[in-house]
Amino acid sequence: MHKTLEEKVALITGGSRGIGAAIAKRLAGDGAKVTITYAKDSNSAAAVVKAIESAGGSAKAIRADAADIKAIQDAIKTTVETFGQLDILVNNAGTAIPKPFEETTLEEMDQVINLNLRAVLVATHAALKHLKSGGRIITIGSCIGERMMTPGLVVYSVTKGAVKMFTQGLSRELGQRGITVNNVQPGPIDTDLNPAAGDWAAPQIANTALGRYGRPDEVAALVAFVASPEASYITGANLTVDGGTNA
Ligand code: NDP
Repeated sequence: MHKTLEEKVALITGGSRGIGAAIAKRLAGDGAKVTITYAKDSNSAAAVVKAIESAGGSAKAIRADAADIKAIQDAIKTTVETFGQLDILVNNAGTAIPKPFEETTLEEMDQVINLNLRAVLVATHAALKHLKSGGRIITIGSCIGERMMTPGLVVYSVTKGAVKMFTQGLSRELGQRGITVNNVQPGPIDTDLNPAAGDWAAPQIANTALGRYGRPDEVAALVAFVASPEASYITGANLTVDGGTNA
């Protein structure tokens, strides 16, 4: 049976756990060969590769801290050397350091900005020389990039608002090359970063229309569609998968 992403190669940053791992498994299930990056947890990265290979797919894990510009550039290079091309870049690696803005240190600001924003620019910049017509750039933003209902996430929301405009701006430059650029904005998704059993869960659930957290595979389903040839007329879009948080 023909799979939607057969003959495609995808790189997912931060693909060893959480939303990134679900995206890697889903795109591989749809036929893509995938590389995933991670910074610290090599066991989780190896487990994702193993799960994909056991299901008949191809995957490789690359240790590449997204705070390190050269490591990101090398990860793009390794992907092309390993699988011969790059068609889909998913900028997923990201983090939050929840605390009031005034108590946030300059080092913490740098950490969040470098991972959530600078790494997106660097990876996309390095990927562009490999992407051809039909290419896809997909960034995992956040519903918080458009609307804010809690204190304690100021710097995080700055970075997610920035990737929204990055997406819109870059779509205007790449349209003529047949490359689409989109921003997938999750709401509360049950991961190590934002556990559904955590202290912060109750107010986040209260903000959703569906009355529950989302699952990583529910984000991966949207990413898989945007990555597919069927999404050829969607670009410069901010697509929320947030259980109605921003409704
Ligand atoms: P997790 O913390 O659960 O997973 C993060 C992944 O990124 C891991 O694979 C981790 O690997 C990797 N990672 C962390 N730091 C780095 C780094 N410096 N360089 C490379 N890889 C890194 O996060 P989520 O899955 O929850 O979040 C994924 C994305 O989704 C983020 O951009 C986040 O902002 C966004 N998002 C999440 C929401 C949620 O509710 N969960 C809501 C809205 C958006 P390792 O530990 O080995 O470094």
